[in-house]
Amino acid sequence: MKTFIIYITRNGELLARRLRGLFPTARVGRFKEISLSDIWDSAEALIFIMATGIVVRSIAPFIKDKKSDPAVVVIDEKAQFVISLLSGHLGGANDLSRRIGEFLGASPVITTASDINSLPSIDLWAKENDLVIEDWDILPRVARRFIEDGVIKVYSEIDIDLPSGFMRVEETESADLIITNRKKAEGLRLKAEESYHTVGGTQGETSGVHRGKQSFPLCDPVFPPVRPLILRPKNLVIGIGCNSGTTASEIESAVRSLLEEEGLSFKSIHSIATLDKKTEEKGLVEFTRRYGLALRGFTSEELNSVEGLSISGHALKAVGARAVAEPAAILAGGNLIVPKRRIGNVTVAVALRSSETEKGVPENRESSRTQRSGRLYILGTGPGDIGHITLRAIDALMEAEVVVGYSTYIDLIKDLIKNKEVITTGMTEEIKRAEKAVELALEGRTVAVISGGDPGIYGMAGLVLEILKDRAPHQSLTVEIIPGVSALNACASRLGAPLTHDFACISLSDRLTDWETIEKRLHNAASGDFVTVLYNPRSHGRQWHIIKARDIFLKYRDPETPVGIVKSAMRDNERIILTTLKEMPLDEIDMQTTVIIGNSRTYIQRWQDNRYNWMITPRGYERRFNNS
Ligand code: SAH
Repeated sequence: MKTFIIYITRNGELLARRLRGLFPTARVGRFKEISLSDIWDSAEALIFIMATGIVVRSIAPFIKDKKSDPAVVVIDEKAQFVISLLSGHLGGANDLSRRIGEFLGASPVITTASDINSLPSIDLWAKENDLVIEDWDILPRVARRFIEDGVIKVYSEIDIDLPSGFMRVEETESADLIITNRKKAEGLRLKAEESYHTVGGTQGETSGVHRGKQSFPLCDPVFPPVRPLILRPKNLVIGIGCNSGTTASEIESAVRSLLEEEGLSFKSIHSIATLDKKTEEKGLVEFTRRYGLALRGFTSEELNSVEGLSISGHALKAVGARAVAEPAAILAGGNLIVPKRRIGNVTVAVALRSSETEKGVPENRESSRTQRSGRLYILGTGPGDIGHITLRAIDALMEAEVVVGYSTYIDLIKDLIKNKEVITTGMTEEIKRAEKAVELALEGRTVAVISGGDPGIYGMAGLVLEILKDRAPHQSLTVEIIPGVSALNACASRLGAPLTHDFACISLSDRLTDWETIEKRLHNAASGDFVTVLYNPRSHGRQWHIIKARDIFLKYRDPETPVGIVKSAMRDNERIILTTLKEMPLDEIDMQTTVIIGNSRTYIQRWQDNRYNWMITPRGYERRFNNS
């Protein structure tokens, strides 16, 4: 999104800087220095911090029409109001004003007639009705169409109540939403449009459904036709019989190939039904866990009570049931729609879950879990304020629905995560926090687990990945680790350039590591003449560790070796101390402090009458220069 933030006064400038938290890639400039005629056509959003009158007069010559004009938003200098001035709906100025309003604690001023707040949200409605969204990329476009037209056309193959604004249609051609479990159903006579390649779903499915421009007469010619959003009702019950020891992958591929042949969507699977004894079968259990599907078992008597089905000699001999897959599917679902087929060690049949069964069968929580794919971001928030977070981390935070982290770090980024669900527990409860994050992501939520600094340096990344390993491999879960500026980068930069040569990094916390190991590493680093960064140097409960560490270094290094101590780098209470090994002020060191001990060549350089005191570890250039 090409966003410009334009201000006039000093207060405006400060406000513009604050807005950087929300628009990290925006261009910020003084009103006089930005030429509106240059940017008007390419800009997607213009945010003015000044009087509305100035804005109206200056944009007037450029306004063309609502399809191409950028969103224009005006904020007063005191950040009391955010006015959606131009391109409210299509250009997104209304949305933008709400977001800015939330961020700054200002009131959005929105004057367009049809307020999107009064329209139901498609994804919430789908979730409430246990409908799985086939392709999330299509949702924003369909939602936008909904906002523009105030009505959305729905073609449904299931019985479902529609909220206001949702209009039932009888053919798929004009539908914006199609509710079906069929992949290429005969009824879906839709024109495939070449320009629209279907985006593969996470399970390798394509909707195979497109809409041509001509088939949607209301479609504004300036905008490309919107592909309909396919929603998958969870109404298929899969009956399964299998030999003992059949693997989850074999079961999965049997189910997939049958559904594929029948043109049915895998995402429409509601649950799995089988013989009661088979509910313990490892492969079957693993398969159902992988997709969060309920597994129901029936006794041989129950299975035998379903009449009129073909008898399986194999099942009768092995388990005393005349058949398994078909009667189990019928008992759990209702109407058999795909008779059993044997694929390798697996027999599969499919029943359609009727609305009566829905009422009759107790709902298993697992089964109503949506199949929307979860996202798990493990990200570093840097050492302090939001100025030192990477843009990627900000994007991920913006996208996250839930943010999980230790309260200190949550507080430091609170401006970025207003109105998000936040889960924060005490420092020693990392495991609980990580488990909760994984659990939510597996449920389909977008979760950001945050660590201060870098998540991979004494942070949450390792723990979260270890927890993931033991979970059923939930195929659609996306995991991304986003780096951050660690305390060692931050503190080194405050001290000058102490890490320009080889360094070691040691945590003095013996909460999870034996002190002997730590001590051994201190000896090795000290004897190896590594510049050494000490994390977790001292806390209320751990007072002597830093003294031990200093004494070990004194055995190998000159007592005059420079030491840099940085407390709360990049935070309001930052403190920087340059000292020597023998004079280290131990009382100044706490849990928010990082200590950097120089190597034998590290020195302190003063500059500009002590305005700067730098700790420098030479890289070795001076020798090169002297030789040449
Ligand atoms: N993942 C973090 C480190 C967590 S361990 C990172 O990459 O920075 C916690 C230790 O990091 C603290 O005890 C302290 O030694 C150091 N630390 C974290 N933030 C700091 C800051 N802003 N200033 C100084 N030290 C910091």
